[in-house]
Amino acid sequence: MNHPRKKLIAGNWKLNGSLAANDALVRALLAGMGQPTCDVAVCVPSPYLAQLQSLVQGGALLLGAQDVSQHLSGAYTGEVSADMLRELGVRYAIVGHSERRQYHGETDAVVSNKAQRALAAGITPIVCVGETLAERDAGETEHVVKRQLAAVIHTNGHCISEIVVAYEPVWAIGTGKTASPEQAQQVHALLRAQLRAASPQAERIAILYGGSMNAGNAAALLAQPDIDGGLIGGASLKAADFLSIIAAAA
Ligand code: PEP
Repeated sequence: MNHPRKKLIAGNWKLNGSLAANDALVRALLAGMGQPTCDVAVCVPSPYLAQLQSLVQGGALLLGAQDVSQHLSGAYTGEVSADMLRELGVRYAIVGHSERRQYHGETDAVVSNKAQRALAAGITPIVCVGETLAERDAGETEHVVKRQLAAVIHTNGHCISEIVVAYEPVWAIGTGKTASPEQAQQVHALLRAQLRAASPQAERIAILYGGSMNAGNAAALLAQPDIDGGLIGGASLKAADFLSIIAAAA
């Protein structure tokens, strides 16, 4: 099949790193990955974006942020705007990660506004959706992920074809419990159908899987027809593991 979507492997470093550790990790990644056939990005803490910008210059590694403000500028202490990220060469911004929804009270509306700000600045938002274990057990997975994505579709209209979606079941993040390839594909297919109904260009939209993806399970997940890459937390901090996942996507 002629596939319209290039795979994307994106690391989410979360609250990890130091100047020295970042330097070693990025150099190992650049040396190990060569010219991959998939896109590869690392979403790093904001203070390290300038360091990363110079480290990845000219290489195949793309730069991402872990969040973006829903505001353009002004009295919003601690926030980082999409335009600021763009100036630092940022190509992707994670929005609506479950940790931000959970610990920072981000609502579907806030997440949608953040996606809109990113798009307006020429940054691809990686929009995270996913159900908690309680929601899955209650049979609410479809309802929850569709509600989360519907808000972003509603706010962003025809620009929706420019986003990346990440399906991240909350119960699988950082827990070592991965959704089975079939479980993940089932939700990805639902999200794909929702995107198709919203945009004639839905086939272009990459839907990543996230949640304890690692060197051992990546190939089986990435072989599913609607899994177009991965958003990787823990395993993106070790060069060898992240390189294995990149190889599985190539
Ligand atoms: C994440 O934080 O987006 C994630 C998927 O984490 P982990 O791979 O560690 O489960």
